[in-house]
Amino acid sequence: MKVIYPGSFDPVTNGHLDIITRCSEKFDTVIISVLNNNKKTCVFTVEERMELIKASTKHLPNVEIDSFSGLLTDYAKEKNSSIIIRGLRAVSDYEYEMQMALVNRKLFPALETVFMVSSNKVSFLSSSIVKEIASFGGEISCFVPKEVESALREKFKGGPR
Ligand code: ADP
Repeated sequence: MKVIYPGSFDPVTNGHLDIITRCSEKFDTVIISVLNNNKKTCVFTVEERMELIKASTKHLPNVEIDSFSGLLTDYAKEKNSSIIIRGLRAVSDYEYEMQMALVNRKLFPALETVFMVSSNKVSFLSSSIVKEIASFGGEISCFVPKEVESALREKFKGGPR
């Protein structure tokens, strides 16, 4: 069974990795798909985000890294997959995720969105909070893989952007 885990991953955190690791144990192939969205201002380019995911998941053989733009439903059809993975951290994620799952099912009835509940050790983590801390030179080594830590240090070496 091939599943797609889509997201911004700007950058990938230990929270994403928790979901990716658990998915890789349960499914045959996990395609991590970085959303190329011009409307969202990201700190890392799509290529940089893909490279960081690649470096952080190199120990997981059944993980593929890709990017997409446009509708997730079109992308899922193109990839021949009908399972989307999303992570749920807290009740605050629920409303938006529910809306997306229902809209996507309307557009592609065979599509199932599977929610994975994050481990409570990382449920407070988001890419935004990590970027905020990094922008002020704070300690982020326990929140992100080491490749991401150095990339964030490099991005913010001149202070907040
Ligand atoms: P998006 O802009 O699509 O929400 P993100 O990179 O922020 O992209 O998140 C991608 C997916 O990963 C979402 O389903 C999100 O809920 C999930 N996620 C992000 N951080 C965590 C975390 N700490 N624990 C579990 N899931 C997470």
